[in-house]
Amino acid sequence: MNDANEVQARRKVLDEAFHELWGCFDMAEKVLLGDSLPERDTPKTYPDFSHLVEELAPEPTPPSGSRIDGCSLEQLGALVSSCMACDLCSTRKHTVFGEGVVLPKVMVIGEGPGADEDATGRPFVGRAGQYLDKWLASIELSRNRDVYIANIVKCRPPQNRDPSPDEMTACIAYVKRQILLVKPQTILCIGRIASQAMLGTTDGIGKLRGKFYNYDGIPLLVTYHPAGVLRNPEYRRPVWDDLQRLAKFLNIPIPSRG
Ligand code: SF4
Repeated sequence: MNDANEVQARRKVLDEAFHELWGCFDMAEKVLLGDSLPERDTPKTYPDFSHLVEELAPEPTPPSGSRIDGCSLEQLGALVSSCMACDLCSTRKHTVFGEGVVLPKVMVIGEGPGADEDATGRPFVGRAGQYLDKWLASIELSRNRDVYIANIVKCRPPQNRDPSPDEMTACIAYVKRQILLVKPQTILCIGRIASQAMLGTTDGIGKLRGKFYNYDGIPLLVTYHPAGVLRNPEYRRPVWDDLQRLAKFLNIPIPSRG
């Protein structure tokens, strides 16, 4: 069991223990005040024990700027691996910090880990990740040499649902610190969720893609998520256009294709 699950389990046991204790007091009161020995039953109402549970096993607090400012990449990874700042900590198997080279040509940012990533602790290793590798290879980029990959949230949302605004708010400081430390030449946001989170907008991806944005001095491009393109082949053409745009910016000569 990871640290996050341990805290949740401890909170649950404490809550049950307080209820059990209250039942004993209730029984003792009946014995002391009653004429005859009562049947043991369950009290109808309980006091609110949440403040006691919180005191004994506090919910983790979101990472504050002061905790991650000044962190090295390694220290940041350690912070993430023990992070319990949002509910996703209770269902994850592994945190997925991100990986790749520093000073990359491209930092790819997705929304969050899926099942394969949760199982391995590595970003984009499933089917969508393999497809992403093909995209990168099509413009002569190698994950081992030119790329750093990370997500907005570092723990898998159950059933691959979208991360909630609260979860993204709790986690986004990590990826922002990663950008500062990794120092990419460009950023490629893949998918609506990551693009909206990085650009602070609610605009759809069809509107956002097709041009470079300035993220703290780093050119940022938006495109569709590989998982979405696998489901919707009509997105292949716009993705290829985006990849060509990226290659042109990086002065990578690539053959055109139909
Ligand atoms: S998703 Fe992010 S903020 Fe939430 S527990 Fe995981 S690392 Fe912490």
